[in-house]
Amino acid sequence: MSYASEVKKEIVGQESEGCCKFAQLYAMMLFGHCFSLKEIGILTKHKAVAEEYSRLLFEVFGVSVPIITTKGGRYSVYLENKRTCTGIYNCCGYSRPIATTINFENLENDCCKIAFIKGAFLTSGTITNPEKSYHFEISSVCDSIAKGLLSVFRECSDIYNKENFIDHEIYAKLGNRKGIPFLYIKDSQSIETMLALLGADIAAIQLIRTKIGKDIKNNVIRKTNLDIANIGRTADASGKYTEAIKRKLADGSFKNLSPSLQELAMLKYENPEMTLNDLAKKFNLTRSAVNYRLNKLLK
Ligand SMILES: [Zn+2]
Repeated sequence: MSYASEVKKEIVGQESEGCCKFAQLYAMMLFGHCFSLKEIGILTKHKAVAEEYSRLLFEVFGVSVPIITTKGGRYSVYLENKRTCTGIYNCCGYSRPIATTINFENLENDCCKIAFIKGAFLTSGTITNPEKSYHFEISSVCDSIAKGLLSVFRECSDIYNKENFIDHEIYAKLGNRKGIPFLYIKDSQSIETMLALLGADIAAIQLIRTKIGKDIKNNVIRKTNLDIANIGRTADASGKYTEAIKRKLADGSFKNLSPSLQELAMLKYENPEMTLNDLAKKFNLTRSAVNYRLNKLLK
């Protein structure tokens, strides 16, 4: 099962007030496959979404519609009776043949705004597994509906913050892919807030865990890279000093060095893995004093 399917499965079937049932169903229709005077229906690859839609149609409008499995393995729920379609369409506040805006009168209560986003996400949204990347998206049929959805998102963000005494703004943006407008969220904090808002608590906790895991992994990688770089630097420097000492021993200039430098140089020569810090400790010197003395060998 895809990650998006798991999240959707967690969201469906939640208990809600009558006003929210209507708001969620309204969004499922508006963001579904078709929503017009003559046709109302959804086509989804998620069985749980088809069942939720069918359940809400019955609970809100008393209409019973069968779920049909298509040859491509999708689930379709279509209202075929034109009179029923017109009745529901009008009830949502529309009279023109095709709905091109969100009717905000259907979302007057705060609870209904959240239910509306839930419905939009169920029929037209997707979310990427946080193990791979952070991406939440809801596509819509036209720009004005996408813009309307963005304003509902902002309102919901405020509602959530007020209820939880926090200040997590949901950074949602609008995009367009091959002529299809969509709303998307890329930052993990906003996706986390969004999941909590939609009642997908398990997914929200999972996301937090993944984030912590990624942070630990990144820190380990950063630390390892740093260690490797340091080992590399020590090895390079050691090689440099060893060569210089060998040269001085060969040309006889080694004995001209001060006795303390000779001692330091021989220790380094015999123990090339010793760092400046190790040598400093051994000779009771500062690191920079050791560095200064060893650099004399290079001259
Ligand atoms: Zn409500």
